[in-house]
Amino acid sequence: MTGLKGKVALITGASRGIGEATAYALAKEGVSVMLAARSHGACETIAETLRAEGYQAEAVACDVADFQGVDAAVNRTVARFGHLDILINNAGVIDPIGPLSETNPDSWANCVTIDLVGAYHVIRASLSHMTAARGGVIVNVSSGAAHRPLEGWSAYCAAKAGLAMLTRSIALELGEAGIRVYGFGPGTVDTDMQGAIRASGINPISQMKREDHASPAVPAQAIAWLCSDEAADLAGQELSIRDEDLRRRVGLPT
Ligand code: NAP
Repeated sequence: MTGLKGKVALITGASRGIGEATAYALAKEGVSVMLAARSHGACETIAETLRAEGYQAEAVACDVADFQGVDAAVNRTVARFGHLDILINNAGVIDPIGPLSETNPDSWANCVTIDLVGAYHVIRASLSHMTAARGGVIVNVSSGAAHRPLEGWSAYCAAKAGLAMLTRSIALELGEAGIRVYGFGPGTVDTDMQGAIRASGINPISQMKREDHASPAVPAQAIAWLCSDEAADLAGQELSIRDEDLRRRVGLPT
């Protein structure tokens, strides 16, 4: 992958799952990574492991729902590594799962705040640094649920659909500044989120077997590739790991 060595990435939701795997994938390409999530201890443990392997990694506690906290995490990233080139908006929650009639309004709003407004917060806080660096890459971790309605997931589907439109809208604004924006659907991945989905028993995704889900390293490889120069022609698009041409270009089995 070209164009990654020496870059700096802020990865939200990096305490486990796809975010953790993406931190590894980017670090192995020579990117300095800042791991952000509410669980600072988990991020710090992963960052320590990465440092022990010779990579550049730090951790910061950050709730993407809180703009001031996000702003502080972005400033900490720039203070530590000198610049900010890559944003991976990966933090997400699926709850509340269930019929809308039974949802708690605070929980429903919280899902949209984390999954949609959280990404806006990170982008809003980072843009001045990215334009100062004369470019960068933003990957918004999307979902099949952005495009396919699923019963019991009204908040999640609505939030991810909004995120997909955020991706395409800001791609129009940021191209001139040299900032490439991607939406990326990772497919179904064996993480804690899929565990919660399985436990719910609601909708066809919950019926999938654990072994049918991909390892987090698979979407992580694709996310790292999107941040490389090789993906420049795909900027502005909402992409899916299920796309065979994309898989071929990333080097994943088709
Ligand atoms: P996961 O294992 O549950 O991890 C979610 C991550 O988001 C954790 O690191 C969590 O850390 C963080 N997070 C949650 N709320 C946060 C907040 N308010 N502020 C900061 N960080 C927060 O889930 P995953 O499967 O890796 O999901 C990662 C992304 O992929 C999500 O956007 C998800 O919607 C998307 N996705 C996943 C699948 C799948 O099959 N797994 C499919 C499609 C899309 P803390 O709890 O420590 O904050």
